Amino acid sequence: MPTGEPALPTTPSAAPFGRLHECADCGQRQYVPHPAPGDIAACLRCDKVLRRGQRDPLPRTLALGITGIVLLLIACTSPMMDVSTTGMDRTATLLTGPEGLELHGLWELGLLVVLTTIAVPLAHLTGLTWVVGTLRLTRPPRHLPRLFGLLQHLRPWSMVEVYLVGLFVAYTKLRQLAHIETGPALWALVILMLVVVAVDALLDPEAVWETMERRGVLRRLPGCAPDDGIACHVCGAVTDAPEGAYCPRCESRLHARKHASLQRTWALALAATVLYVPANVLPVLTYVELGSGQPSTILGGARELLDGGQWPLALIVFLASVAVPVLKLLGLFTMLITAQLGLTARLQDRTTLYRVIALIGRWSMIDIFMESILVALVQFGGLVRIEPGYGALAFAAVVVLTMFAAESFDPRLMWDRAAETAARRTRSRPAVPAEAVSAQ
Ligand SMILES: [Zn+2]
Ligand SMILES: [Zn+2]
Repeated sequence: MPTGEPALPTTPSAAPFGRLHECADCGQRQYVPHPAPGDIAACLRCDKVLRRGQRDPLPRTLALGITGIVLLLIACTSPMMDVSTTGMDRTATLLTGPEGLELHGLWELGLLVVLTTIAVPLAHLTGLTWVVGTLRLTRPPRHLPRLFGLLQHLRPWSMVEVYLVGLFVAYTKLRQLAHIETGPALWALVILMLVVVAVDALLDPEAVWETMERRGVLRRLPGCAPDDGIACHVCGAVTDAPEGAYCPRCESRLHARKHASLQRTWALALAATVLYVPANVLPVLTYVELGSGQPSTILGGARELLDGGQWPLALIVFLASVAVPVLKLLGLFTMLITAQLGLTARLQDRTTLYRVIALIGRWSMIDIFMESILVALVQFGGLVRIEPGYGALAFAAVVVLTMFAAESFDPRLMWDRAAETAARRTRSRPAVPAEAVSAQ
C-alpha cells in the first residue's frame, strides 16, 4: 500500500498548500495537497482516504463511462440465460425478473430491482460520462456542477456487482432443476461490473471540481479560515456561506452536520428492526412442485443450500441476508447510543464501524436479486414453479431502510459529542489547591 502523503496541519499560519478540507468521517479540518499519482492523502485524525492521486482520471473515466453504457445497453436488450427442462424452454433478459415479480403482485419489488440494476446504473454512468465528456468542450454547459453533485447521491443505489452475485447464486440453484445456456447479457454484465469497479477506483471527484474551475464553469472558491465556515457534505467544499445557504460549488443545501441526523437515523433503524421480524418469519419464496408448495424463509434458503452440499453459496446467502442486516442494525444502534451519550472511548473503532456499515449494506440485496431471477425463470407450468413471498418485500424494505439510516447518520457527531464530554470533564475537574502543590 502506498504511504499516504501527510496532510498539513490546520493552523491558520500554515501555508494554504492544497485545499481546505473537512473529513466527512471525523470532522477534522486540514489542508489536503494534490497527491501524486499512486499516492493517497489520508485524514490526520481518523485515516479516512481523502483523496487518491490518479494519472489522467478524466479521460480514462470518459472511456470507461462510454464502455459501461454500451455494456449496459447490451445487457438490457439481449438474452441473459436460456433455461430448458422436459421440453419446456424459457429465456430471461435483465427485465424478465422484475416482470415476474410484478405478475405475482410484488410490483414494488420489481420496481426496486429495475431501479437498482438498470435505471440508476444507467443514470449514473450517463451522467458521469456527460460531465467528464462535456468538460472537454470549448464552452462546457453551466449545469455540470449541479449534475455532478446529484451523481454523488446515486452511486450507492447502483448495484450491478451485487446483482451479479445474486445471478450466480440463482444460476447454481437453477442448474439442479434445468439445463442452462448463458447469453450475451450475462457476459456484458460481468464486464460491466469490472468497469463499474474501475470507475470507482479511478474517479477523483476533487479533480472534476478543479477542472470545472479551470474551464470557467465554476468560479474559484473563496478562501475560508480553517476554523470557520461550513463543509458541504456532498462536494466537500469548505466555504464561509451560512448554515442553510446553498453550496457555491454543487448547489446543495449547507449544514454544518447532516440535518436532524440522529433523529432520522433512529426512526429509520427502528422501522427496519420492526420489519426484520416479518422478513424472517414470512416465506421469501415458495417452491411449487406438481401442485404442492414448500414455502421457504431466508434462513431456510441458506439451509437448503447447505443441505445440497453447496456450503460456499450457503455462506454467501447467510452472510448477506442474515448476518449483515443484524450486524448493521446492531452497529447503527451502537453508533446512535454512543453518540448520544457523548462517549469518548473507541472513537476510531466506531468510525471504522460506520464505514463498514455504509459499505456492506447493499450486499444484502443478493437474496432479492436471486429471487427475481428464480421467479422469472422457474415457471414450468404445473411441473415446477417458484413464487415470491411477502417476506421478500419486508426484507427489501429492511435493506433499503438501513441504507437510508447509514446515509443519514453523520459520524462527525460522535467526535463532536466526545469533544464536548472531554471539555466538560476538564471544566468540572477541581483546581488543585496551592497548599497541596507546595506540600508535595
Ligand atoms: Zn477524519
Ligand atoms: Zn457542495
